Amino acid sequence: MAKINKKFKLFIDEELCKGCNICVELCNLHVFDISPKINNKGYYIPVPERIEDCNGCQICELSCPELSLILEEIRL
Ligand code: SF4
Ligand code: SF4
Repeated sequence: MAKINKKFKLFIDEELCKGCNICVELCNLHVFDISPKINNKGYYIPVPERIEDCNGCQICELSCPELSLILEEIRL
């Protein structure tokens, strides 16, 4: 699943995610919610519900222990 704002695209590999919520806790801009969706491993996955607030700091991407977040800058 991927969400996009004007500058960044944030992709979450839902099947790699282990639902640790580190990304949810560490995002200073509170971009993530914990979704009610469960992946194949039985974990609740985060969803970048407020992607429009993301400033591309990469904290979530660099902190995810499962490397399941990928942040891309959109170049026009
Ligand atoms: S890149 Fe930074 S601002 Fe954007 S979702 Fe991740 S932690 Fe939050
Ligand atoms: S930090 Fe990674 S493994 Fe943990 S909830 Fe976020 S996306 Fe999933």
